[in-house]
Parts: sequence; structure tokens; C-alpha cells
Amino acid sequence: MHDRRWNFSPGPAALPLSVLEQMREDLPALPGVGASVLEISHRSPAFAAVIEEAEGNLRELLHVPETHRVLFLQGGASLQFAMVPMNLLRGTAEYVLTGSWSAKALAEAQRIGQTRVVWDGADGGMTTVPRLDRLDLDPAAAYLHVTSNETIQGVQFREGFELQRGAPLVCDGSSDLLSRPIPVERYGLLYGGAQKNAGPAGVTIVLLREDLLERIPLGLPSMLDYRTHVESRSLYNTPPVFAIYVFMLVTRWLRDEIGGLDAMHARNREKAELLYAAIDGSEGFYRGHAAPAARSLMNVTWRLPSPELERSFLAEATAEGLLELKGHRSVGGIRASVYNAMPLEGVEALRAFMDDFRARNA
Ligand code: PMP
Repeated sequence: MHDRRWNFSPGPAALPLSVLEQMREDLPALPGVGASVLEISHRSPAFAAVIEEAEGNLRELLHVPETHRVLFLQGGASLQFAMVPMNLLRGTAEYVLTGSWSAKALAEAQRIGQTRVVWDGADGGMTTVPRLDRLDLDPAAAYLHVTSNETIQGVQFREGFELQRGAPLVCDGSSDLLSRPIPVERYGLLYGGAQKNAGPAGVTIVLLREDLLERIPLGLPSMLDYRTHVESRSLYNTPPVFAIYVFMLVTRWLRDEIGGLDAMHARNREKAELLYAAIDGSEGFYRGHAAPAARSLMNVTWRLPSPELERSFLAEATAEGLLELKGHRSVGGIRASVYNAMPLEGVEALRAFMDDFRARNA
């Protein structure tokens, strides 16, 4: 038996219960192997099967074209903030600033080369995202960097935001990767940690268009050079074997239990809409942070009329079994992260609590 409550953590985040149960089942010995996935060589046939299935499931779910390579790396999305410019920044790279994470990505790139901010949401309090087709972009830029979902502010680009033409699109998809279908062919490079929608912390997924490899300068440290990982198929050194194994289980769950990313996206929409409806129907008691057109389906952020009410909201929610709802310190208020593994039932419980709390405190 376990005492699981509704966990709205922004990441590492809830995993599907069936995946946790499978992990427990397989922990002492992988079926047919006689040892734990934690105890075998990353070059063994058993682990080769794990990493192959992980890549295969990802390719199937996202319809990853042949032009793109899949890498399983370490160092988190934070290392990608640096690896991207180290490998690809020749001339100038363009950055769209929509929140805290895109600002961090920019700060790393500035240490490495020339950058240009093509849109800055800071003036508007980081509450929205631009339309890329309305920006003055340089098609000859090294790349255009965007953050598809800002985990802290709770703003997200809508489906289909990716331009067909222009500089290679580089995207930090840490907090919405595998939450919806995306046209991978429009991306030069897409990266994200697994620990929100796709698995545990420790593995970072990179999808990389192969022709970009030609742009990488010589002389980078091996571990920081994408070519190293492409050539060794993510097995240059010991990879995060357990995280890759759990990522494999989550992608299997997405395919077999959820039915793919269209189905996942529909569920994620339904969950987020329940919470936004509570905000919109609250007669100003709850104030959403994001502009409606840029509302995130992953991280729903809002304020209450006073810090005192926010504190009692959080304390009472925790007592009701609704965990990890505190907003990030830079934005304040409340943040409910409702990634793939959060069931509708958990969101309904939060919705009921929101309505009840308002009725008692408005
Ligand atoms: N980008 C985004 C959008 C994130 O949400 C996070 C983690 N919260 C990061 C980057 C940093 O990821 P990591 O901790 O894996 O380096």
C-alpha cells in the first residue's frame, strides 16, 4: 500500500503509477536478464534493448524524421544552454525572451558568442509570447532560440508556432516535450530534461537535425561536442541507465496506455481548461498570470487577493492532499503543474478545492 497524494510539483514531477509499479517489479531483476538494470553494463545486449526501445518509442510518438538524430545526454537542459552555442553559434544567434528559462539560456550564450534579443517579454511582465511570423528575424542567424513552455511563468507557445523557413529553430522543450504532437521537421535542435513529462531527472533528450553537425567547430571537449554523442549513439561514456530505462517505460505508457500524443494533448487540454475556468469564473478572486492566448497547458499560475490568503490556500491545500502548489519565488502566488502523468481526477480535486476555498474566503 502507498499513501500517494495529488502531486503538482513543477519537476521532478509525478510519474504514472503504472510506471512506478513496473519499476518496482523490475528493480531486482530485469525480465530474462537476472540482474537489475542498475547493475548491468551499458554495453550489454540487455541495455542495448532498453536504449533502442527508448529511441524507437520517442521516434514513433513524435514522428521523428530520418533527418534527425536522437541523443540521451546528461547535464540537464542547463548544459544545453551552453552546448547549443558552443556547437552552433557562428555569427549571431537570436533569442526570444519569454520568461526565466529563456533568460538563462541567453545568459549562457552571451558567454560564448554574439546574440540578439528579438523579442523581450519583460516589459509585459513575462505574461505572453510573440508570434514568430511577426518578428524581424534574420534568416542568416546561426539559429533562433525559443522556450516552448516557460515553467515558472506558465506561458506557452501554441501548437503550430514553428516557422517553415528561416534560421534553424532551437527549442528548449523541457516542460512540454511529449505533452503534445509537434512538427519535428521544423526544428534544427530540440532539447529537454525528462523530469517533467517523460521520466526522471538525469537524462536530457536532444533531437538534432543531422546537417547541423557540419557547423560544429573543431576542438571542443569531447563530451561537449554533439558529434561525439551522435557517433557513439549516446554511449560514449556511461549514460544515465536508470533514467533511460524509466524514460522507456514512460514512452511505452504514452503509446500503449494513453494512445499517443494526440490523445495526451487532448487530456492535457482538458485538465488545464478546468483550472483556467476556475480562475475565469472566480470574479477576480483568482488572477491568472498568463495572458489568455499564451496560457500554458503544463503550468497554471495565478495569484490570490493577498499574500495571507495565498499562504492559507497553500496550507489548506496541502492538508487536503494537494501537494507542491507554491508558485516560484520570482512570480509568487500559486502554480499547479499538470504534466502528462497528472490524472484528470487530481485536477478535479484541485478544482473542487479552489471553488470551495473561494466560497469561504471571497
Ligand atoms: N528549461 C526549462 C523550461 C525548465 O523548466 C528547466 C527546469 N525546471 C530547465 C530549463 C533546467 O533544466 P535542468 O534542471 O534539467 O537543467
